[in-house]
Amino acid sequence: MKYSELVELYERLDSTTKRLEKTYFLAKFLRETSADEIEPVILLVQGRVFPSYDEREIGVASKLVIKAINVASGTDSEKIENEWAKTGDLGKVAESLIKGKKQATLASSELTVKKVFDNLRNLTELTGQGSVDRKMQLIAELLSSAKGAEARYITRTILGQLRVGTGAGILRDAIAWAYFPKAVEKVFMKCGNCGKTVPQAESCVECGSHLGKEAKESKKAGKKAAATEKDAGAETSRDEYNTILDRIQEAYDLTNDFGVVARKAKTEGVKGLETVEIRLGTPIKVMLALKVETLEEAFETVGRPAQCEYKYDGFRLECHRKGDKIWLYTRRLENVTHQFPDVVEFLKKYVKGDNYILDSEAVGYDPKTKKYVPFQEISQRIKRKYDIEKTIEELPVEVNVFDILCYEGKNIVSQPFRKRREIIEKIVKSTERKIVVSKAIVTDKEAVVEKYFKEAKAAGTEGVMLKALDAPYQPGARVGYMLKFKKVMENLDLAIVAAEWGEGKRAKWLSSYYLACLDHGGKLLEIGKVSTGLKEKREEGLSFDEVTELLRPLIVEEIGRLVKVKPKIVLEVAYEEIQKSPTYGSGYALRFPRVIRNRSDEKGVSDINTLEDVERLYRTQKKSKG
Ligand code: ATP
Repeated sequence: MKYSELVELYERLDSTTKRLEKTYFLAKFLRETSADEIEPVILLVQGRVFPSYDEREIGVASKLVIKAINVASGTDSEKIENEWAKTGDLGKVAESLIKGKKQATLASSELTVKKVFDNLRNLTELTGQGSVDRKMQLIAELLSSAKGAEARYITRTILGQLRVGTGAGILRDAIAWAYFPKAVEKVFMKCGNCGKTVPQAESCVECGSHLGKEAKESKKAGKKAAATEKDAGAETSRDEYNTILDRIQEAYDLTNDFGVVARKAKTEGVKGLETVEIRLGTPIKVMLALKVETLEEAFETVGRPAQCEYKYDGFRLECHRKGDKIWLYTRRLENVTHQFPDVVEFLKKYVKGDNYILDSEAVGYDPKTKKYVPFQEISQRIKRKYDIEKTIEELPVEVNVFDILCYEGKNIVSQPFRKRREIIEKIVKSTERKIVVSKAIVTDKEAVVEKYFKEAKAAGTEGVMLKALDAPYQPGARVGYMLKFKKVMENLDLAIVAAEWGEGKRAKWLSSYYLACLDHGGKLLEIGKVSTGLKEKREEGLSFDEVTELLRPLIVEEIGRLVKVKPKIVLEVAYEEIQKSPTYGSGYALRFPRVIRNRSDEKGVSDINTLEDVERLYRTQKKSKG
């Protein structure tokens, strides 16, 4: 393929800011690109010659490019710098100077995409003596052969300033438009003049004919179909199109390389996308967590029982091993292997097997006290490129392994979490303050999670994660397979001021209790009603029966099933949230309150929590919600 064809695409992409138009132009181009040229084309469209996770970069300084322009155009460097200062775009300067030169000398051979791509890649390979000069020659060679706008785009690519506005969303959609036209046709409109499936707009992006009326009608029809939900056909077509987009996205989440995805789509269709393989050494987008406010909500999402793990306050580390080679990637898929030789050692020493991908959290700890330190204190290790040995000593990390995506070279993301966990427990030899399997329990009870949460906090972590035992690992997705829970509210000690007789088999007990806190003047203000946490049998813990007996002598008034009592019984109560509420005298209500224990032996009514405490907790909870 000629480089000038790619330049034509760049110009088209540059000419519009509309997402759908960009998608259309790119798709059309991809459709016509041969399978073996797809990968370089997709990289070049993104202004790069290696995928983003690859640590190799062109990395050429503008000074060197100026020298190359000087050699290619014969214009002296000072003039080039002046022009650059005037226009602010070295690409345009290169274009105009080289065009000028071309009129004088009859130009050399035509540039191909392959030639440009190879020369740019070669720039990264050169090191050592004479490499700067050699690099300059590689660039000058390209610029000397460049015609028209080619020099502009070559220069911009080298400087990392291509910016033709093709983000991940556009690339994904363009792959669908390029290789799955049938699914696209059913969703988008056809131009009445040229017959091409085109984005809805005033005029056809392909032939320029006026589309105004049809576009509006088709939009209207789309809206109507969605609004009435009667047009099942339209819905199915939409679903089909969305499924294609999902398959492309999933393949991308596994490979992080649109080039590979596009080639698969072109050569093997949907099947190809579904069989895209994990490659050891190529980072995979990590699965993300949803945030939950309450444990009820958490269990509703992940099911019961669920795995509850410490939530370490460090940074995500995806560890790949293929034979003797190890790669470490951050959550943003930056390669940080060089910065963490200590982790490389831990993996070699304490993890069995040599073809795997682990997901983990690296946490810093104080080398003297061995206590965990917050992420901010070790964050500098991620960027540190020198004095690595010293930083290992000053800012050591412990790797907490919590998932595995690939084992014995096989992709295991679709296996249930409990199976994946079994594998990590089998292969990681937990060694404190080096590498360990994340701390975890399996439970179906909120109270157990709360207790574990407190233990996790006391160990210097941020809280707990809750994970669905049967869920797969979904790369790149924030689905409800793992949840973060960072807040358990401080328990409150509150007084019982009234109670209600139960119903059915609880009719003989006072089974729900009105609770109150104290205001500054010593007045009791109601804050909610609790009926959970107590047992039906005495031998199981604090029971309804016991509390009823405690309250019976304190009854001062009975109104139907409601009894008012003299405040004397103090209960410790857990809850998930404090809400503003006009229902109770305090102006607040507890969400999901639960009795923890009777504290009447240790605390009198004057010792219970105050309205001020409640207001403080309400404020901190708002802050933690962000
Ligand atoms: P988000 O990841 O939700 O965008 P964030 O960067 O603030 O936001 P957190 O709120 O800290 O992330 O929650 C999720 C992160 O917690 C994970 O990405 C992971 O790095 C970290 N983490 C710590 N311990 C665990 C664990 N046991 N299991 C899974 N992730 C854990």
